[in-house]
Amino acid sequence: MKPPTSKTTLIIGQGIAGSMLAYHFHKANLAYQIIDKQNPNASSRIAAGLINPITGRVLAKSWLFHRLSEYAHQIYPELEQLLGISCFTKTQLFRLLKTEKERNEFSLRVELPEYDGWMSEAIDISQLQGLSYGEAKAILIHGVAISLGSRLLPAFRKWFQKQRTLTDASFDFSQLRFSDTGSVFYKEQEYQRVIFAEGFRMKDNPYFNYLPMIPAKGDRLIIHCPELQLKDCAKISQTLIPVEKPNHYWVGSNYNHNEVDEIPRESGRQKILEKLEEMLPLPFEIVEHKAAPRPTTKDRRPLIGLHPKYPQLGVFNGMGSKGFSLAPLLAAQFVNFLSQEEELHPRVSIRRFDQHYTMKD
Ligand SMILES: Cc1cc2nc3c(=O)[nH]c(=O)nc-3n(C[C@H](O)[C@H](O)[C@H](O)COP(=O)(O)OP(=O)(O)OC[C@H]3O[C@@H](n4cnc5c(N)ncnc54)[C@H](O)[C@@H]3O)c2cc1C
Repeated sequence: MKPPTSKTTLIIGQGIAGSMLAYHFHKANLAYQIIDKQNPNASSRIAAGLINPITGRVLAKSWLFHRLSEYAHQIYPELEQLLGISCFTKTQLFRLLKTEKERNEFSLRVELPEYDGWMSEAIDISQLQGLSYGEAKAILIHGVAISLGSRLLPAFRKWFQKQRTLTDASFDFSQLRFSDTGSVFYKEQEYQRVIFAEGFRMKDNPYFNYLPMIPAKGDRLIIHCPELQLKDCAKISQTLIPVEKPNHYWVGSNYNHNEVDEIPRESGRQKILEKLEEMLPLPFEIVEHKAAPRPTTKDRRPLIGLHPKYPQLGVFNGMGSKGFSLAPLLAAQFVNFLSQEEELHPRVSIRRFDQHYTMKD
């Protein structure tokens, strides 16, 4: 890899956002370097990486899902090849409709053409054997995939290190200087621009903390349940996802707006356990408990674009609870935008918050 030059983009953060962005720089043959403080508890590393077309109590079809899903199904297998790992699994999600409202929503939506092929009544719920779901009706959500963060992100990191494009360090804002020619210096090295993909830590970024991020901390457990043999994912009171080891499951998650840290606390564990015990009458042991804030935003849309005053600074963030489906396509679009080939979608562009910046300034 060539040393950085004034044409190189510096990316801060190697979560799913920064990794996807860097990978799309690589694909476009554009020079990039990453600075990331290795963090095994980062949101991307503890996420199940579920890519789910139909979410929430009203069974809403995820925003832009057709395009996001199509692109994700192209990129993740491509990355498996490149990185020499297996991390992407196509699956389906058994979802219980526990309330009358959920059942009504299903009846209404299953008839709509845009839901065609994405969900159906579960014909065989024996797959849920071992779980307790009472009389509730189960549906099957199709087109679901998992891209396990715990496998993908460490493999990505190794690859960036091999390319000599990653430095393990904390970014130091006091070392940032703007040049008269529109470029930027970081520790005496000139770069074309710096793009921040710091996840919830954007709150400490003096240039972008005007953007309305409202982090939502989530806990997740890995459990070992020898008598449970789930092949697919299931969402009853909690979401259960089979992980690599036999009879081991990812379980989560909750949304906590009061704590903005990565400390797995007893209160978070209890929240998950209370719901898990409602649905899992079998003995299990907790193998691991982790927690991290998701970079969620006020309007639940990503935060992408260049700074209103310093266009040599950019942000690629705000992926909320859907980083694994959003980041691939949005990274491709952001790289096109930076190459002046495509406009940013107004729903993701940070221009929608220009007024917040003016008020701060
Ligand atoms: C429990 C849980 C379950 C989830 N499940 C799913 C799921 O199933 N599907 C899905 O799509 N999403 C899921 N999410 C959400 C998903 O994890 C996020 O959307 C995504 O991880 C955000 O990625 P990111 O790269 O923006 O941030 P992060 O993953 O937080 O990465 C940011 C990186 O930047 C680094 N960094 C920050 N500041 C600096 C600095 N100053 N210097 C150097 N490095 C810095 C950090 O160390 C970190 O490595 C889940 C989240 C949680 C918490």
